Amino acid sequence: VQIKVVEKILAANDAIAAQNRQLLEQNGVLAINIMGSPGAGKTSVAERTITAPALGGLSVAVIEGDIATRYDAERLAALDIPVVHIATGGECHLDAPMVKQALLQLDLTAADVVLIENVGNLVCPAEYDLGQGKKVVVSSVPEGHDKVEKYPLMFRLADAVVLNKLDTIDAFDFDAQRFEANLKDLNPEAAFFAVSCRTGQGIEAWADWIRAQLARS
Ligand code: MG
Ligand code: ZN
Repeated sequence: VQIKVVEKILAANDAIAAQNRQLLEQNGVLAINIMGSPGAGKTSVAERTITAPALGGLSVAVIEGDIATRYDAERLAALDIPVVHIATGGECHLDAPMVKQALLQLDLTAADVVLIENVGNLVCPAEYDLGQGKKVVVSSVPEGHDKVEKYPLMFRLADAVVLNKLDTIDAFDFDAQRFEANLKDLNPEAAFFAVSCRTGQGIEAWADWIRAQLARS
């Protein structure tokens, strides 16, 4: 019985996700679902993406999901871009109906890219299609090199993985080769970027990847 209920919820979610996908495609908007654990640096990656020279001239909007507080939405709104905050009210992931409501508050005709920052969580956000064009996981050096092995679903579904906080690697027992090899085994198609949002290292390659996805869509 429990499983049936979950399947029904996911089926209803997927129907709305399809509507979101159609709405985004009609407007030529690339939506990127940014997932990752709390503190991985999802908001910092969004900030760096918005200000990346490679994406200059593009119009980027943000949908910011958080269980509590508007801290991250305020950080991004300070960049003078459209931001819609989704207060999930305890829900530990975004779902397609929440994102639909947020999309309807944005001027999609004026947007090129919508960054959707999911709730910090490596588990259930992977199970909810939001209608995004691309899924990205932000992981980080202090979390450890075993995250790909321990949370395979999210990494398997990712179009790209951003390994953040590269500037801290000397302070942690982090095996970068192991992390990347595990990712390659699980999901050979995923693009991989090692970055530091603090120093800006690797951000250009990541921003170039986004621009390439736009050119393809
Ligand atoms: Mg955040
Ligand atoms: Zn959840």
